[in-house]
Amino acid sequence: MPRDYYDILGVDKNATENEIKKSYRKIAMKYHPDKNPGNKQAEEKFKEASEAYSVLLDSQKRQQYDQFGHSGLKGGGFNAGGFGGGGFGFDLSDALRTFMDGFGNFGGFEDVFSGGGRSSSRSGSRYTAGSDLKMRLAVTLEEASTGKTKKIKIKRLEPCDECSGSGGKKGSSTITCPVCRGAGEVREVSRSIFGQVVNVRPCSNCYGEGKIIENRCPKCGGDGRIKKQKEISVEIPAGISAGHYLTMRNEGNIGIRNGARGNLIVVFDEKEHDIFIRNDDDIFLDLHITPAEAVLGIEVEVPTLSGKVKLVIPAGVQAGKMLRMKKRGIPHLHQHGKGDQIIRVKVDIPINISGKEKKLYKELQEKEGQVFKKSGRFSKIQ
Ligand SMILES: [Zn+2]
Ligand SMILES: [Zn+2]
Repeated sequence: MPRDYYDILGVDKNATENEIKKSYRKIAMKYHPDKNPGNKQAEEKFKEASEAYSVLLDSQKRQQYDQFGHSGLKGGGFNAGGFGGGGFGFDLSDALRTFMDGFGNFGGFEDVFSGGGRSSSRSGSRYTAGSDLKMRLAVTLEEASTGKTKKIKIKRLEPCDECSGSGGKKGSSTITCPVCRGAGEVREVSRSIFGQVVNVRPCSNCYGEGKIIENRCPKCGGDGRIKKQKEISVEIPAGISAGHYLTMRNEGNIGIRNGARGNLIVVFDEKEHDIFIRNDDDIFLDLHITPAEAVLGIEVEVPTLSGKVKLVIPAGVQAGKMLRMKKRGIPHLHQHGKGDQIIRVKVDIPINISGKEKKLYKELQEKEGQVFKKSGRFSKIQ
């Protein structure tokens, strides 16, 4: 069982965003790999804290975690990339990226750890990584009920086939970037009322790589990537509902010149169903019967998400009665059990009736009228 994220960061459940940031900063600074080279234990602690931080700072993930714990995060689909273990899997580069994202606005992290230079171990990856893609996918209630693998087409950046993603013209070599002289970043010193401020930003000439291609590929212009349509399979888990999302790791845009791929985030919508209405994992529908059927009872075949099911409507059923068909609803997401199907009885009063029916109703009316002589026709509204 993975450790509680709040425990990891040493904050309580009601901690504010700021408290979480502060606490994470302290832990991450202490265990940062640059400060503890070769120390596996420190690296683990750093990863653990970064994972906890990335969840607790994201209000949606935090809510899911508060409600369902670690399994809630799996349930939310963070596990799509096939990560094992608890939580949603976090490797060192994720942790480092979280660290960067979290502290970009504290300013000067790199100065703290590496005297201004970039750590060579992650050279390039940060600036050339591909971006995430986001798409919406509408599912039917039937699909939500059973789960399904769906093939979808997306347009995303793929390696250029002219240069295999290298960005260079055939036979072209790389040279040291003249703008940053190979450092991959540009330092700018400016003065403010707080004193001298050093601003380090990735070199835009070489995308932070420190080297450039002598002759750029004519097809992609040196980027090493072009937009293509791709078909990919999305595993829709049973129990999914509108607003859930799935992060498919490394299914987003390829990075510049074969840089790391971004993720694909699939946000689910629900298609409206012809007869069913979904409420949480329960399914609702109306059943229409005649007055005689209400009085005498009837057996009907009820449509469900998994085919037709026979149901006995008992004699004397009242209009508005809710009949519950247990476990005929949508499965709970990543949990055992299912919702129910609930049938509301509607008694349709016939309007156009034949002479014979009229005669029968008249006979009934005379008989039924007797009932109210004793009890009266009126009662308090309930
Ligand atoms: Zn450069
Ligand atoms: Zn190319």
